[in-house]
Amino acid sequence: MRADLHTHSNASDGTESPAELVRQVAAAGITTFALTDHDTTAGWTQAAEAARQHGVRLIPGIEFSSLVGPVSVHILGYMVDPQHTELLGTMNATRESRLNRARRIVERIGADYRITWEDVLRNTSDGATVGRPHIADALVELGLAADRNDAFAGILHSRAGYVIPHEAPTPVEAVQLITQAGGLAVIAHPGTKGPEALMPEEALEALVAAGLFGIEVDHPENREDAKPVLRARARRFGLVTTGSSDYHGTGKVNRLGDGGTEDEIVEEIIRRATGARPVS
Ligand code: AMP
Ligand code: FE
Ligand code: FE
Ligand code: ZN
Repeated sequence: MRADLHTHSNASDGTESPAELVRQVAAAGITTFALTDHDTTAGWTQAAEAARQHGVRLIPGIEFSSLVGPVSVHILGYMVDPQHTELLGTMNATRESRLNRARRIVERIGADYRITWEDVLRNTSDGATVGRPHIADALVELGLAADRNDAFAGILHSRAGYVIPHEAPTPVEAVQLITQAGGLAVIAHPGTKGPEALMPEEALEALVAAGLFGIEVDHPENREDAKPVLRARARRFGLVTTGSSDYHGTGKVNRLGDGGTEDEIVEEIIRRATGARPVS
């Protein structure tokens, strides 16, 4: 069983607590996994305790939000120093901006539907990184969507006109921050829109210059026809390829182990990272 290097808990937009997530990882027979909540390391402590209990190896990580204009690019950061001043500052600023953005989105939806900020708060764990999935859960509770997926296809789709962006660093800044914080940076799910929509090669080159370590290829939402192109790019730029499920509990169809990373690559991440250590 390969390592599952990208999962979410309710410290961001997963539906399970870090402890319950680890329990499910162990039950699935996965021996190494990474917790990569959006813009926060808040789940690490509980996940570490559960990992020791269940005999699972935890790679502590984050999934950094970044933006190129309006285009969202997610960058995974493995084993960063969670106390690194600039990293902390950027994560806090992004979370704050996400909170303001979510409030404004709910105001905009509230002009047409019966939804209030309290409905969203009720569906968000204390201190969690807020995102559209929490608004989706409120819409489901109010009977305005069947499930998260339905909410994303309707009211929360960019075409519906309610969603606005939050602030975030550029991908180059995100890769630099992760690297400076002793971690290893991997572009998350870059092929979800197919081979034609991949980032330009020059943009990838800039990320490599900033310290990029890898590309997430074996991800359930990467399109099959994008994967060979991503593998070829990784070879050309000397990057590793990783894989994961991007598990969000019941919030997404992705199941634990739906994608995975080879052992040698996991060992290389552990060997090279200086910001944090794996827990087992
Ligand atoms: P946000 O960061 O607030 O723009 O919301 C994006 C997040 O929503 C991503 O992290 C995804 O995990 C999640 N997401 C996107 N599409 C869907 C979907 N169709 N169903 C469930 N979750 C989704
Ligand atoms: Fe998410
Ligand atoms: Fe993502
Ligand atoms: Zn993710």
